[in-house]
Amino acid sequence: MDPLIAGLQAIVGPRYCLTEPEAQTPFVTDWRGLYHGKARAVALPGSTAEVQAIVRLARQHHAPIVPQGGNTGLAGGATPDVSGKAILLSLKRLNHVRAIDPLNNSMVAEAGCILANLQQAASEADRLFPLSLSAEGTCQIGGNLATNAGGLNVLRFGSARDLCLGLEVVLPDGELVSNLSALRKDNTGYDLRHLFAGSEGTLGIITAAALKLFPKPVARATAMVALSALEIAPVLLARCRAGLADQLVSFELLPRFGIELAQKFSPGLAWPLESLADWSVLIEANTSSTAFDIHSAMEQCLGAALEAGEITDAAVASSEAQSLAMWRQREALLEGQIKIGAGIKHDVSVPVAQVPAFIKQGIAAVVDAWPQARMLAFGHIGDGNIHFNLIQFEAEDKERFIARTEAVNTVVHDVVQRFGGSISAEHGIGQLRRNELHHRKPAAELDLMRRIKRLIDPDDLMNPGKLV
Ligand SMILES: Cc1cc2nc3c(=O)[nH]c(=O)nc-3n(C[C@H](O)[C@H](O)[C@H](O)COP(=O)(O)OP(=O)(O)OC[C@H]3O[C@@H](n4cnc5c(N)ncnc54)[C@H](O)[C@@H]3O)c2cc1C
Repeated sequence: MDPLIAGLQAIVGPRYCLTEPEAQTPFVTDWRGLYHGKARAVALPGSTAEVQAIVRLARQHHAPIVPQGGNTGLAGGATPDVSGKAILLSLKRLNHVRAIDPLNNSMVAEAGCILANLQQAASEADRLFPLSLSAEGTCQIGGNLATNAGGLNVLRFGSARDLCLGLEVVLPDGELVSNLSALRKDNTGYDLRHLFAGSEGTLGIITAAALKLFPKPVARATAMVALSALEIAPVLLARCRAGLADQLVSFELLPRFGIELAQKFSPGLAWPLESLADWSVLIEANTSSTAFDIHSAMEQCLGAALEAGEITDAAVASSEAQSLAMWRQREALLEGQIKIGAGIKHDVSVPVAQVPAFIKQGIAAVVDAWPQARMLAFGHIGDGNIHFNLIQFEAEDKERFIARTEAVNTVVHDVVQRFGGSISAEHGIGQLRRNELHHRKPAAELDLMRRIKRLIDPDDLMNPGKLV
């Protein structure tokens, strides 16, 4: 038997060392089915000590390791290459909440905990773990930290790295770095958790994390508004932040085309406003205080925005069912986007105040190059993060359309760069954006990233071919 496989079986037991292609299939293909790799074995360790043992064994055999969480990443970061040399290390069995401390507002969870389960565990302790994204029923906290995931509540609570108080990480030599004491303040040198957050498995394997919790909201206010013009969005955002006492959690831009897609593919979904504007915003605020009337604050704020001519119409949900129905519009947009055909997608950010100008210039640049283009620009405008997607041309087959990806990326990312923006605001680099990162990241920053990688992982065994 292959000595590496025998070693892996000795560490995790034969049941948790998968070598048959059929058993490996769900692990070696990415969520969107864009990347298909091969693994020498898929290993499923059950403890941090087993992760350490696997890493040491892999090093002896010069075998690369690809860490994998829920495999929902959209940049091919968790898919091995086709050489079949790598061990795919799935964290899914490290799925225990080690501790919850409501008074410290913190919890310590293993990397393989599914995000939705952590939200539930926090809720049961009368606390909120605010990280929230559509993949939350499948993605894992280790993957969330490794990609510095964002999602719907970044505006108020920050992204995954902001919610992290400390990490336990197995380094590429098998050593363990552990800081799970959940301190709020610790000024004793370099903040290592921030190095590993967003490192996409290229520097080590996150095995556990200390995470921030918050008071649980007791009330929420959800609203849908019609913007008088796209340019008003940052003005309205500033008004809402002030008027809602910084209790704003989501501020999501929805374009007319997106809502039309939602209506087309989700018949029966009632639009909450009288008419459909070119640009709408879904707004959500919540509060943990019974002394603060979030509903009145939302109404007052939007009343003032109506008077100022910033919005032309507004609906504030008066029940939980109405809130959910408003959020359903956004989900239906995502579903409609998939059903209408293929997409060439961009997950970009620019300074918040520049979002309208970016969207207009970005659309103009794409339409200039491809007059038949249908653009869907939507998303977390409150964070300056826009999903800027070109939808498959009506009279063109999928393969021909997808073949334009590189050309479209260049056009879009050139505009992003003009605005001083980022070509990846949420989904990371993985293998999808690696070449582009190398063209667009300032040389000094890229060089420093490479030097850090060489220092921590001199043999390039941790997720090679990804990110740097
Ligand atoms: C429907 C859908 C909606 C999404 N919405 C959002 C969104 O709103 N915001 C957002 O930011 N992302 C979003 N994503 C992308 C994805 O869910 C996130 O990137 C998520 O954080 C990935 O977590 P995962 O556990 O699935 O990681 P994986 O896909 O398994 O891995 C992602 C990367 O992290 C590395 N990694 C995973 N676990 C570890 C670990 N324990 N230690 C070290 N490295 C590790 C992998 O090697 C890989 O490079 C969405 C994806 C889908 C499918």
